[in-house]
Amino acid sequence: MNLSKKEIVDILSSPDTDIFKEADAVRKKYVGDGVHLRGLIEFSNICKCNCLYCGLQSSNKHVNRYRLSKDEILDIAKKGVDEGFKTIVLQSGEDEFFNTKLMCEIISEIKNLGVALTLSIGEKSFEDYKAFKDAGADRYLLRIETTDKNLYKKMHPYANFDNRMRCLYDLKKLGYETGTGCLVGLPEQTLESLADDILFFKELDADMIGIGPFIPHPDTPLKNENNGSLDLAIKVMAVTRILLKDINIPATTAMESLRSDGRLLALQSGANVVMPNLTDDCHKKMYEIYPNKISATKQDFDFKLKTINRYIETVSCGYRNRA
Ligand code: SAH
Repeated sequence: MNLSKKEIVDILSSPDTDIFKEADAVRKKYVGDGVHLRGLIEFSNICKCNCLYCGLQSSNKHVNRYRLSKDEILDIAKKGVDEGFKTIVLQSGEDEFFNTKLMCEIISEIKNLGVALTLSIGEKSFEDYKAFKDAGADRYLLRIETTDKNLYKKMHPYANFDNRMRCLYDLKKLGYETGTGCLVGLPEQTLESLADDILFFKELDADMIGIGPFIPHPDTPLKNENNGSLDLAIKVMAVTRILLKDINIPATTAMESLRSDGRLLALQSGANVVMPNLTDDCHKKMYEIYPNKISATKQDFDFKLKTINRYIETVSCGYRNRA
């Protein structure tokens, strides 16, 4: 299906939530009832960036910074594999301690465990992305955050929109399953710009899309702003499902942080992936991108999914049945 920008804006501005049911039907038809699990490891909260909304921004002096050692990361990955995870996601701030060589070592050791591997470690050069791919990385998550250049500039005063775009096209070129996404409810963000975000996801032909409401962090310059609306975030996700049909869409943690059944609602409105957090309790508390970050385990999901007649997918772990 194709929707014009105006049609998308109309859907986003209407109080009607029929779109949730439509997206649920598209999800069922194209990717089925199975919910894919991705085991998330937050291995460093050290970041050189200064994204205004993010609790881990380098100018936030209240964060207890940590980085896990290679062995600690591998131990967590092994535990995840023993629990039955088929995909491991490595996420961190932009921490240059993890240089190309060290990342490649970690990647190839995790690949030896026989799982798919997703990276979410920010903006890198084409050469770095190529090295990670050659070492075995399968997928990469890099949200564009917003396609509105002016808003992007305000939210990332020291970063470069064109470079983030370049990264996404490099990842595609290198054959990664490429994930992107946006924040919903950033200060001054308009419905028109959210419609542009959705159209961009289609243009990039993204394989995964993560969408989450903005949640103000008390130690950032955006602390007095309102949080994004959960309903609007789910609507953006639902329209994305309808337009991109067979991609992977996580029910994101930020959705659950705003409302206790937020992720279940997302799973009933187009989502088909959840990312339980494998990081140990001590460190995951310190990976505070936004306050009240919920972190559910595989067991929590096992139980909750039954209440909506869904189940954890154990067979295929990839997009379009790629291993
Ligand atoms: N450094 C990596 C990982 C970023 S953290 C990268 O640049 O890709 C993952 C995501 O958390 C970000 O892409 C952003 O969309 C989201 N995030 C950051 N701060 C947030 C906030 N205050 N509220 C909601 N989501 C936030």
